[in-house]
Amino acid sequence: MAFLASIGKIFEDGGLHSILVCSDVYASATANQMLQGKQYACGICGIWMAHESLTHIFRPQLRILQPRTLYHGYPMRPNVAVVLSTCSWVRKVQRAAKMSYPVTKAPMHVPLFQEVASVLSAGLKENFSDVCVDVVECPDLTKAPFSLVAPGLCGSARLADIGGPPFLLPMVQRDKVFSSDEIARLVELPDAFIIGAGAGPCHIVGVNSELVNNVKISSTGEHIIAPYIIRINPKDGSCVQEQLSSPEFCLMGNFLCSEGKPGKVIEVRASKRRGPENFMTAMRKTLANHYDTKPVAMGGVFIMEKGKAKIHIMPDFSPIPLTCDAEVDKWLEFYEMNAPLVCLGELVSYDPGLDFRMDHFHCFSSHGEGGHYHYDTTPEDVVYRGYFVLAEDVYRIDRPPITHGMGR
Ligand SMILES: [Zn+2]
Repeated sequence: MAFLASIGKIFEDGGLHSILVCSDVYASATANQMLQGKQYACGICGIWMAHESLTHIFRPQLRILQPRTLYHGYPMRPNVAVVLSTCSWVRKVQRAAKMSYPVTKAPMHVPLFQEVASVLSAGLKENFSDVCVDVVECPDLTKAPFSLVAPGLCGSARLADIGGPPFLLPMVQRDKVFSSDEIARLVELPDAFIIGAGAGPCHIVGVNSELVNNVKISSTGEHIIAPYIIRINPKDGSCVQEQLSSPEFCLMGNFLCSEGKPGKVIEVRASKRRGPENFMTAMRKTLANHYDTKPVAMGGVFIMEKGKAKIHIMPDFSPIPLTCDAEVDKWLEFYEMNAPLVCLGELVSYDPGLDFRMDHFHCFSSHGEGGHYHYDTTPEDVVYRGYFVLAEDVYRIDRPPITHGMGR
C-alpha cells in the first residue's frame, strides 16, 4: 500500500490520475483512493495497465500481455481483464496522449481518365473476350446494388494503405486497432467517404473477420457508419455477414478515400475470362505494363454480376505461428460464392518502396455472402462491371517495421 501511495505521490500530478479517469476505467474518487494506497486491488490493476499502455505507446513492438498472464496470477476483476483483452484502454490512452501513427505520403502519377480507359481497354482484351472501358458519370452508389453511404467516388481521391499482413502473421498483434475517423484525419480529408478492404474489429465482433469498409466521416461528427464484416459461423462453418455501427477496424486496411461526390469515373466492363488473371490483377498488371515505374493508383467498386467466385474468410486468430503461405492457406477458409457480389477496394501499379498491398478487394452481397475476393471460378459465365477513380496520393499509415510477403 505504501508502495502504491509512493507512486501516487510522485506521478498523480504528472497525469496519472487523469489517465486513469479520462480512459473511463476508474471514477475520479476511486482513482484518488488508488493513488493514496487504498483500494489495493484496483490500485495494482490500474498501475499495471498504465505501465503496459504507456510501454505500448512508446515501444509499440512490445505486445500487450493476455489476461491469463497478468501480473503473476494476481486475481484481476473480470471487467478489468476484458478491458485489457480488448485493448480499448490502450487506444483511449493513445488518443488521450494525442499519439498517432507514422504516415508517409507518396504522390501518384495521375494520367487523364480517357488515357487510362484506353490503356485498360487494350490490356484487358488479353484476359477477357468482351471488354468495354469508358469515362462515364458515376452511377448513384447509394442505390442498389451498391447501397453505399455516399453517391460517388469523386473529389480529392486518395488511397490509405494501413498496417498490413505482418500485423496478422506469423502471430496476431491484437493491439493494432484503427478507426476510420482517425484515418480521415491522417489522409487530410476530414469529410472522407472511405471504402475498401480490411480486417474487422475483433474487439467488437468477438472474433477475427473480414471488413468491407463503407463509412462517411464528417468533420462535424455526424458520421454515417455502415461497414460490413464477414465472419465464419462457428456452428456450421457458414458465412455470416453483418453491418456494424463502429468505425473501428484491426490490423490492416486498403481504402479509397474521397469526398464521395458524383462525377466522372472510369467504367470497366469485362466478361468471358480467357486468361489466367483475375479482374483487378488484370487491371493492375495492365497499368504496370504501360506506366512502368510511374505508380498509378485506383480505387472503387466493381460488381461481379454473373458467375461464381473463390472467396476466403479469415477464421479466428491462429494460436500457433503461421510461417509460410501454405500454412496460411490451411488456416483460411475458402468458399465458392455466387453473384452478384459487390467488391470494394484499391490497387496500385507500382510500389515505390513503401511495402504497398498491390491490390485488395473485399465483397459483400444482398444474399449474405462475402469476404476476400480471389478470382471467379466460372470464366465462361463471368460478367464484371466496375467504377474507379485515380488517386492523387497514397498515404502509407503505420507501415509494419518488420515485413514479409505472406498472406497477400
Ligand atoms: Zn483481404
